[in-house]
Amino acid sequence: MQALDVAKLHNINVKALSAGSNVELLIRQAEEFSPEYVCIADESKYCDLKSCLSGKGIELLCGKEGLCALASLPCDTVVNAIVGMAGFAPTLSAVGAGNRLALANKESLVVGGEIITDLVKEKGTDLLPIDSEHSAIFQCLMGRGENKPKKLILTASGGPFRGYTSDKLKSVTKERALKHPNWSMGAKITVDSATMMNKGLELIEAVWLFDVLPEQVEIVVHPQSILHSAVEFEDGSVIGQMGVPDMRIPIQLALTYPKRCSSCAKPISLFDITMTFEKPDEKVFYCIDLARSALKKGGNMPCIMNKANEIAVDMFLRDKLSFCEIPEKIAWAMENVCFSKVIDTDIIIETERETEEKLK
Ligand code: MN
Repeated sequence: MQALDVAKLHNINVKALSAGSNVELLIRQAEEFSPEYVCIADESKYCDLKSCLSGKGIELLCGKEGLCALASLPCDTVVNAIVGMAGFAPTLSAVGAGNRLALANKESLVVGGEIITDLVKEKGTDLLPIDSEHSAIFQCLMGRGENKPKKLILTASGGPFRGYTSDKLKSVTKERALKHPNWSMGAKITVDSATMMNKGLELIEAVWLFDVLPEQVEIVVHPQSILHSAVEFEDGSVIGQMGVPDMRIPIQLALTYPKRCSSCAKPISLFDITMTFEKPDEKVFYCIDLARSALKKGGNMPCIMNKANEIAVDMFLRDKLSFCEIPEKIAWAMENVCFSKVIDTDIIIETERETEEKLK
């Protein structure tokens, strides 16, 4: 939705559109933007799509194959904002076809970081992060020349439960977990933000995107979400990127890169803001630690962690699990699903299957 706001503002031609299961919204968007191709991932909604859009000169597709077909169409940029591991195959298709990829899907890099960064190099294409923190780091590194970053400072809002003790976390509700203080995002990522697994996933993402060691990434809680992340260089200079918390800024930069254009986001006034920083409480929010150990272990461990998190968050959203049971489930899976040091797409599929089987 926010990418289409940007497309509308700058008259960017939308060649193809896809959605997960919200077919009503997809139909309205297709009517407004007249793409050549439309795909609904949820195959059970394909009939609805056909009944509303057939005869309008739009090619209609569905399912995983449809998403991959869309991602490999010749175009300037593919925006992959699919939620979860479903975004992995389309990422491979986009990069494999040599398309520039604007990536909001974290799981692609968390699970298959090595596979994807190798393919990006092989195809000589661009991988532009849309995640606000990674877009910030990317911007801080623009024009750095030969200088390597000493440290990446990854900011976190801390989510709705910042400052909570483990005890207080036991009684939190789904409604509270879904209310993010600063960002408007989907349900899965909003819960990830409340558990701070989101920051764990972003840590792994940053290591792959910017080719740094895990120890070079520092997580800093910054509740106002104005400084979107920063980079420290060898000479002690810290360069950061600031702006109002509005995803349309990083989305737009990925679409217009390297050009910066006027945006629908509000400008910030330094007179109106206060910025504070604190250390994350990694004892209470130990998802960060789970992510660090998954990264250190390598192989399919981030895949196990990510899949267990997807399952646990889904169960939480269906009232089958309490908030505190989310990290417990993930830790259990990391102990009990078969570890493999080697990673390829077959191992990813098998790891996901085994994790699902053991957790359900
Ligand atoms: Mn983020």
